[in-house]
Amino acid sequence: MASKTRRATGRKTEIDVLARSRHRCALCFGLHQDSSVKQGQIAHIDHNPANSAYANLVFLCLAHHDTYDSTTSLSKNFAPGEVRRYRTELDIYLKKEKTTAWPDFPRAPGAGPSDAAATAKLSSPDVYDRRIVVYRAFRLFVLAALRKATVSLEDLGRFAEATDEALFLVGPEVSEYLRGVYSKGVRLYYTSNRIRDERLEPREDYSSVVHENADVLNWFSQSIEIGRSVFAEAVRLG
Ligand SMILES: [Zn+2]
Repeated sequence: MASKTRRATGRKTEIDVLARSRHRCALCFGLHQDSSVKQGQIAHIDHNPANSAYANLVFLCLAHHDTYDSTTSLSKNFAPGEVRRYRTELDIYLKKEKTTAWPDFPRAPGAGPSDAAATAKLSSPDVYDRRIVVYRAFRLFVLAALRKATVSLEDLGRFAEATDEALFLVGPEVSEYLRGVYSKGVRLYYTSNRIRDERLEPREDYSSVVHENADVLNWFSQSIEIGRSVFAEAVRLG
C-alpha cells in the first residue's frame, strides 16, 4: 500500500512538472529562447533518481536530457543551478503568455515574409500532403478525446507538435481554429481530471467544473463536422 501511495504521488508530481513546462525544454529555452513543444522527459536536476521532489524535477527535450545526464567532463556540462535558473525563466515566460494556450504559436494572421518564402519553396503536392497530415492529426485528436471522454498530456503534446507548422501551410482561419481546438483540449484535460479526483470530496466550484466538462465534450462532438468544413478550403488544392 505504501508503494502504491508513493507511485500515485509520483504520478501527480510528474503531471505537475509536465503542466508547468507545457512540454517546453528548460535548456532549449534558456540557451536559444526556443519555446516550442518538444518530445522530452523529466530529468532529476541533482542527478539523483531517488529524489523525485517537485523542485528537483525539470522537463528536458530528449537531446538535452541525454547531455545533462551524461557523466563526461563536468565543465562541459550544465550546472544544476544553471538548469534551475532556466526553468525559472521559462516559468516566467509561460506565466506571461498564459492567455494563449499556445504561446509559441504566432498569432499574426498575415503570413510574414519568411512564412511566405517557406511556403513558396514547397511544391503543391508537398503542401497538400502536409496539410493532410495536419488534418489527420486534428481528426485523431478529436476522435481520441471523444472515445476516452478526456485527453492526456501526451495527446495534447502530440497534437501541438503535429500542428505546429500549420500556420504557414494553412490560412489564418484554420490556424485560429486549431488554436481553439488545443485550448478546448486543455479545458477537457483539466475538468475531467478534477472530476475524477474530486468525485468523493468535491470542491466548491465542482458543479461548474462538471458543467464545463459537459460543454467541452459537446463542443468536441460537433468539431469533427465543423473542422471538416474549416479545413475543406485549405486542403482542396490541385
Ligand atoms: Zn532542449
